[in-house]
Amino acid sequence: MSSLYVIRGTLCRQVLPQSRRIFSRSNFSGRPARTGPTSLLPSTPARTRFAPSPTGYVHIGSLRTALFNYLLAKATGGQFLLRLEDTDQKRLVPDAEDKLYEDLKWAGLSWDEGPDVGGPYGPYKQSSRLQTYKEHANQLLENGQAYRCFCTLKELDTMKKLALDESRDPVYNKACSHISAEESAQRAANGEAHCIRFKSDSKAPPVQDLVYGTYKSPVPVDDFIIIKRDEFPTYHFANVVDDHLMKITHVIRGAEWLVSTPRHVALYDAFGWEPPQFAHVGLLVDQNKQKLSKRFGSFNLSSWKEKSILPIALLNYVLLLGWSPSRNSGERSEIMNMNDMIEKFHLRFTKGDVTVNSKNEFFQKAHLRKSLSETGDKETVLASLLPNLSSAIGQYLKIREENEGWGPDGDLGVRIGGLVRPARPTNSESVVSQNYLRALFELDGQSYTTPTEYLKRNVWLVWQIPPNEYEYRLREYEPVLDKLFVQPSVEEPERKLSELTTTLLGYLQGIPETDWTEKNIKSTIGPFIKSIGYYSEEKPFHHWGWKFLRWVVTASAAGPALIPSMVLLGKDETLVRVRQAGLAASDREEEECYYH
Ligand code: GLU
Repeated sequence: MSSLYVIRGTLCRQVLPQSRRIFSRSNFSGRPARTGPTSLLPSTPARTRFAPSPTGYVHIGSLRTALFNYLLAKATGGQFLLRLEDTDQKRLVPDAEDKLYEDLKWAGLSWDEGPDVGGPYGPYKQSSRLQTYKEHANQLLENGQAYRCFCTLKELDTMKKLALDESRDPVYNKACSHISAEESAQRAANGEAHCIRFKSDSKAPPVQDLVYGTYKSPVPVDDFIIIKRDEFPTYHFANVVDDHLMKITHVIRGAEWLVSTPRHVALYDAFGWEPPQFAHVGLLVDQNKQKLSKRFGSFNLSSWKEKSILPIALLNYVLLLGWSPSRNSGERSEIMNMNDMIEKFHLRFTKGDVTVNSKNEFFQKAHLRKSLSETGDKETVLASLLPNLSSAIGQYLKIREENEGWGPDGDLGVRIGGLVRPARPTNSESVVSQNYLRALFELDGQSYTTPTEYLKRNVWLVWQIPPNEYEYRLREYEPVLDKLFVQPSVEEPERKLSELTTTLLGYLQGIPETDWTEKNIKSTIGPFIKSIGYYSEEKPFHHWGWKFLRWVVTASAAGPALIPSMVLLGKDETLVRVRQAGLAASDREEEECYYH
């Protein structure tokens, strides 16, 4: 095989797309169709597909691709298909297929045809379509547009090394293309191992792309493999055959596939088929412009689920990575439910890499606020978020127990006491009341982003406050504590902090347990709280009453609405806190006396 040493064309690139090096020096001629008719929606129903390989789990990049395809089908009254591209048998991840269905359904996507639901063009799993690929490969063999390649892996390897040594692209040298049809058929019949290669005319057909305009590859299409030695098709071959047979009209996929598309177009041409319309959307990259990978904190969908993101918030977030509603689409709100997304969808995408942002928190809050105000949605939201919140609380309770009564210094940033009494349905320390969590949500649900963030913000509405927390938090107010007074219009002109807590305690004790409501608390303590202030040289009266109350009730400087928080905690727990705050105040005052 002396001709083995003349190497042209890529070897064994049947599965992976060509390198980014080739991609980056590719020519893009023509302008992306920004305003042209191609960027509008097609006038006939589009058939689109999401075609993942079960070699990993759904991540935000693939969810975004699936969503774009889904929206195009829905916006045009077409169909959205799910096709499993499981031809790379060596890289299959055992539970990836089941997780895929689960994750996509969780996200709120559904498909009209797919491996699990069937459809008129099935099966929708490539490993069940081997006969179809074989027949199509035979068709190309018979037409002389493909040939069997008997080169051994060792020979191919030698070719590759030599090409690299000579700084040439390691493409196949077409050695077996010279074998006669008869000899080839005979060797195959004798059981000689072989693959089937596409016979390229050494040109690269231009690709029409809705994002990139006309794309011309700088390298010719090589004699790439279409059927591997294991008789499975390559990605390129199966993808083209299936898109054609499944009547796919539009292919929206990641830009990493653009360099492979000339091969696909060459196959469409060889079969005499019309290619679908392509839209290669920019890849998601991190702040350092690196392709998102598993190392990126929130890559896989499961990590977003754990953080309790609402599916619609996640969809809204990924949709706006490299796409935005048209300026003339009326109301241009970025916060969209599924119907809004379908209504506003169009085929104009950002060209080039898309850097991920942290707007997910914004969408989470916006959708939460929306859902919590709509009764129907509220129950769905609570059903999806409460279990995660309970389990996060459970984890903290466990850490607390293991630390002999003291809570973790870690995640929450503070030490925690036991669960507040109304959060314990039984007296058990390890079970948190679901009703209490629902009430906490009623109070502050709109600020929910993740269970940990939510617990951090509301830590003292879940756990009892250790006494030293009061002293610690008081330090923030040190400059005002000796200048406190109560406006003279109120009868008790106490000045000391401990006196303020005593007065507050008196007022609160006077409210009967059964009347412990927002309205009663407000009317009982409101005037007193409003009259608390401190003086300074610039201003004779600075309001300080609400800060005082927040310190008393939650030993914090910020948090959800205060009086509703007192209702949630209940009279007993609130009074415990006022007493605790009073003790901290007296301790401080005694120390002051001692030192002065
Ligand atoms: N199986 C390919 C993937 O996982 C599909 C690419 C395409 O949409 O053509 O990305």
